[in-house]
Amino acid sequence: MSRTIGVTTAERIATGLVEGHELVGKLRVHEEDPGAEPLFSTPPTGIAQLFADEIRAVAAGQTVDAIGIGLPGIILDCFIEESPNLRQLKGVNMRDLVAEALREHGITAPVYIYNDANVLAAGLAATHGQLDRFIRVWTLGHGIGFGVYPPRPGIWEGGHVVVSIDPRERYCGCGGVGHLEGIMGHRAMRLRFLDMEPDEVFENARKRDQRCVEFVKLWHRALAAATANSIHLAGPGKFFISGFNAKHLDLNLLHQYLQEMVKMSPLQSYVFEVAPSSDENAVIGAAVSAAQSIHA
Ligand SMILES: [Zn+2]
Repeated sequence: MSRTIGVTTAERIATGLVEGHELVGKLRVHEEDPGAEPLFSTPPTGIAQLFADEIRAVAAGQTVDAIGIGLPGIILDCFIEESPNLRQLKGVNMRDLVAEALREHGITAPVYIYNDANVLAAGLAATHGQLDRFIRVWTLGHGIGFGVYPPRPGIWEGGHVVVSIDPRERYCGCGGVGHLEGIMGHRAMRLRFLDMEPDEVFENARKRDQRCVEFVKLWHRALAAATANSIHLAGPGKFFISGFNAKHLDLNLLHQYLQEMVKMSPLQSYVFEVAPSSDENAVIGAAVSAAQSIHA
């Protein structure tokens, strides 16, 4: 059985040792200021050092077969092509930086870098016994992630699909107009509602504040539209929804909008499942992906 270490950075930095598909011992969580976006202002070498310290603590002197790390952005063959929400990582060979920092701790296991939403998809597939089918996951956090399992060639930046042709929709972290993340992302919501936090927007919608009510409808329609687009391109199937803002989801409303958008009967067999806590699944997914990469 493989022994690998997984690291996720999606909501906070969490690291864990995984045997097969199961977490061994407790997840190690790197504590930062509450509400801070992880790694936002840390330079790449600092990030690599931080990962190496966390990995060393989890390995606790035992040898491991491989290390998998999830990071946001377009990541091809462990190379970070683009990362709108961690701009300092664009063009950085994170695998080499982390491997170098690990060598100073005497750890020489191979390091693999993946898109953070893809590792979450792998973790959800592993923990739900669905490694044999195509699954997708939306992560509703500071940005919006979209992960697929098994990995497919392509870019899959689902958080940046265009769900509005209104030129005023320009809150996306990447700067693009009309993007899903520009409506649903936590950072984008703070830009839109300068006078209230996203949690207050949803709370005020329940109190029938009209501006908030309209926004909560838009928020759900945006996710329905992005999901409908994915269904029309890649077919129906299982969609997980995760991330800290998944708590605001009204599944009935989402279903209602999606039914309005997907009318072809062979495409209507889609299923949503909310998987609120992403840390453990993402760590398992990063570790499982690393185990698969060794044998690839
Ligand atoms: Zn975007």
